[in-house]
Amino acid sequence: MSEQNNSAYSDLLRMLEKAAHLLGLPKTEYDFLLEPERELKVAFPLTFDDGHVEIISGYRTQHSSVLGPFKGGVRYFEGATSDEVNTLAALMTYKCALSNLPYGGAKGGVRIDPRRLSRSELERLTRIYTERVIPIIGPQKDIMAPDMNTNSQVMGWIVDEYSRFTGQYCPEIVTGKPIELGGSLGRVQATGFGVFRLTRNVLEKYGRELRGTRVAVQGMGNVGATAAQYLHAEGAVVVAVSDISCGLYCSSGLNIPEIIEHIHSGGGRPRLLADYPADGVIRIGAKDPLFADVDVIIPAAMENQIDAPEAQNVQAKFVVEAANGPTTYDGTEALLKRDIVVMPDILCNAGGVIVSYFEWVQNLQRLSWSETEVRDRLMGMMDSAFAATWDLAREYSTDMRTAAMMVALKRLVAANKLRGMYR
Ligand code: GLU
Repeated sequence: MSEQNNSAYSDLLRMLEKAAHLLGLPKTEYDFLLEPERELKVAFPLTFDDGHVEIISGYRTQHSSVLGPFKGGVRYFEGATSDEVNTLAALMTYKCALSNLPYGGAKGGVRIDPRRLSRSELERLTRIYTERVIPIIGPQKDIMAPDMNTNSQVMGWIVDEYSRFTGQYCPEIVTGKPIELGGSLGRVQATGFGVFRLTRNVLEKYGRELRGTRVAVQGMGNVGATAAQYLHAEGAVVVAVSDISCGLYCSSGLNIPEIIEHIHSGGGRPRLLADYPADGVIRIGAKDPLFADVDVIIPAAMENQIDAPEAQNVQAKFVVEAANGPTTYDGTEALLKRDIVVMPDILCNAGGVIVSYFEWVQNLQRLSWSETEVRDRLMGMMDSAFAATWDLAREYSTDMRTAAMMVALKRLVAANKLRGMYR
């Protein structure tokens, strides 16, 4: 792992080692998790509408298949690197294990700023990327899903491209599809709803009510906006939100439904908060919600937002991680030293992959569940993952991040032993 020192991946390895150490596991029992099982790097020419061509690179990393087929999203992001994709793939392994899903972990990334692309360029890019990863994906091998800057339409194109390749309609190749193509009811809201549910759960454990709790959300993509919407609807006071353009702050609480309506008024593309009419709200920086005078902060933007220096400026008592990897190892340690409760990503944002799993199960059986059935099952699985983590944290007198990794690790190590891979 020498080339990955000081990287997000090595940061995650430090978390893994902390959890393994507490469980008393020798390295030989978890060494299969130290590096991804498979890393694919692809490159392809993309012809733009004006006729010019650029070579685009992308990745698909399959971290571990000990618990089942690989599962994880694909993101379009100009800063995507193999280190980032490997880290996110490993997080999927732990996330699926923690929620008891029969999946391993994977992640894909394409190095592009999708805001530069027209709809037809986006479709071409998606089809060519799919064609490049086809040798390693499949409904029983590796199932993709939306992630940063990808959505149900992108999944629809992947279904079509893969189905053309196999010669038969295959909706189960991805999850997070449009409902019309076999998507599951409740999938779009699942991650944000789960974040809301776990915020409520942890507040309850600390004897606090959601009603009146002051919350700030960094990132108003699908996950952040949905979490903010549920929190607002259930009586929390959302005082700060942000996107890449800026943040909005109102000490008595923002009008979340109106802000969400504004974001959706861009016709296909999210409209920026910088264009939101400023009546009664104060404009703040895009990162400022993390440092607001609130009870709960929800980082819902991207990784590495809270490192040790930022952790000193957090005023909240609870950090509920909606993004993947928003807090570094040192950031987590600094927050814990200040007695701030860190609710880890692999627990809080698992709602998405849990409903992805429901979608895949429905597709394989050619069934379609009601929204209530999806929601009830989702709540059941999230509450059990929360309870398992909470109980282990108490048993070992440790924090929720370490405990969540421990729950996941125990299951992975047990399965690996039983499979007896090359040992
Ligand atoms: N991209 C989401 C995540 O990071 C969802 C993955 C999935 O549904 O497979 O959890």
